[in-house]
Amino acid sequence: MAHDTIIVTGGSTGIGAAICAHLIEQGLNVVNLSRRPLALGSHQLVNVELDLSDRAAVQEAASEVSQNHTITGLVHNAGLIRPDLLESVSLSDFDYLSEVHIAAAITLAQAVLPGMKARQFGRIVLITSRAALGLETRTSYSATKSGMMGMARTWALELGPHGITVNTVAPGPIQDTEMFEAVVPPDSEKLATLAAGIPVQRLGRSQDVAHAVGFLADEASGFITGQTLMVCGGASLGSLSL
Ligand code: NAP
Repeated sequence: MAHDTIIVTGGSTGIGAAICAHLIEQGLNVVNLSRRPLALGSHQLVNVELDLSDRAAVQEAASEVSQNHTITGLVHNAGLIRPDLLESVSLSDFDYLSEVHIAAAITLAQAVLPGMKARQFGRIVLITSRAALGLETRTSYSATKSGMMGMARTWALELGPHGITVNTVAPGPIQDTEMFEAVVPPDSEKLATLAAGIPVQRLGRSQDVAHAVGFLADEASGFITGQTLMVCGGASLGSLSL
């Protein structure tokens, strides 16, 4: 069975937009699920406007998309941070992040599974974060992102016998995104300091992540499952120097 169409969530901007463009370049069809459309001008792209925090809307879109397309892949990329120190963490923020990062992924995967199982082929990639290893002010973010990693390992075990691989990609700081620019503006002096603290001496770009996703989503990557690929320039490594 050959690859046909991949669902990408949060493809309107940043990393998701780069993933859509990269997969289209690889010859795949892409269905982007986000509140804003991706303006790419490609006949291989379909935009479905969807708020992933709306459980009923996600269920409806998931079943519609899986009925109308031959879905062979799912990249759950949409995400957001709600930063706060532990004392101030709001459980409604935690619920919101759980809904977008985890519940939406489960609903989408459930909708595409019957087709993937029937075809004995599928590629699922979840975008998590280096922050799953810990980052101040990221309680809800790191909890839900590391939850995605555990979930992917469980899915890998359940779905391996059906030719479906499940992996996560964990980016470090990626500069050309709305998420990063909201924390560190493009003209900030902090950019150089941040880059100097990363082993490869630069911040990441959306294309760095898209390249990793393209690799894991490739038909030829069938012997890689349940793994987390850190795309972080070495920022996930220990920084102890003796
Ligand atoms: P971004 O530019 O802010 O993009 C976030 C995407 O998520 C947008 O396309 C947005 O689409 C979508 N999204 C957010 N909430 C949504 C909702 N309720 N419903 C539908 N779509 C929603 O940031 P990004 O960096 O590209 O983020 C992509 C992924 O990378 C996220 O999962 C993020 O956690 C992860 N990540 C980013 C970095 C980084 O440094 N940038 C580092 C590690 C991990 P709409 O607004 O159009 O709905």
